[in-house]
Amino acid sequence: MIKENLDQVRETINAACIRAGRRPEEVTLIAVSKTKPVPMLEEAYAAGTRDFGENKVQEILAKKPELPQDIRWHMIGHLQRNKVSQVIGNAVMIHSVDSLRLARQIEAEAAKKEVDVDILLEVNVAREESKYGFMLEEVEDAVMAIKDFPHVHIKGLMTIAPFVDNPEENRGIFKKLFEFAVDIGRKNIDNVTMGVLSMGMTGDYEVAVEEGATMVRVGTGIFGIR
Ligand SMILES: *Cc1c(COP(=O)(O)O)cnc(C)c1O
Repeated sequence: MIKENLDQVRETINAACIRAGRRPEEVTLIAVSKTKPVPMLEEAYAAGTRDFGENKVQEILAKKPELPQDIRWHMIGHLQRNKVSQVIGNAVMIHSVDSLRLARQIEAEAAKKEVDVDILLEVNVAREESKYGFMLEEVEDAVMAIKDFPHVHIKGLMTIAPFVDNPEENRGIFKKLFEFAVDIGRKNIDNVTMGVLSMGMTGDYEVAVEEGATMVRVGTGIFGIR
């Protein structure tokens, strides 16, 4: 069941890439395994998945020792500053950096441990009250502050688009984030690259890929409803 779902999601991504004139290898599928038990992750692993997304540090820490060590764990949920020290060294990327205060905390903990941390800035493109993230007009100032952090490296942007019935409604949001990333990338800021665009979930990843996503975060479409 999980293998069939993965095959189907992968096929949908590939078709969207071809339509958009992109190479399927440009898009990493992150299997969002939050709330799902270890045996389901083992099934996804057996089917070839190496990138897993979790929204709680606790869950990464609980699952990681139970599973193969070549898994790349992605922290995709809102991160509290008091959890930062635990996520460092346990996730390959923090997608959900939504404030300068959080970025500062990551820098402080990374410096203590003498490690480098790759991050994405979460952008609330749709300006939803209920969502975390920088407003688009705040991103550049954040980038200009974080670029000087020696242990924190901005690799791109992330967004959680609104929950909609028709994914076409989110196309403009993905397009906007893509264009924004291109603009920042062109500035050639030291210690900042915009190669990663983490956008698209079960309901809208196909549209996100057409609009330039390099990482899609799919949970329900792989593991079923939560
Ligand atoms: C849960 C979650 C997802 C996956 O959502 P689905 O709709 O189940 O695919 C993606 N991104 C984030 C940040 C999430 O919290």
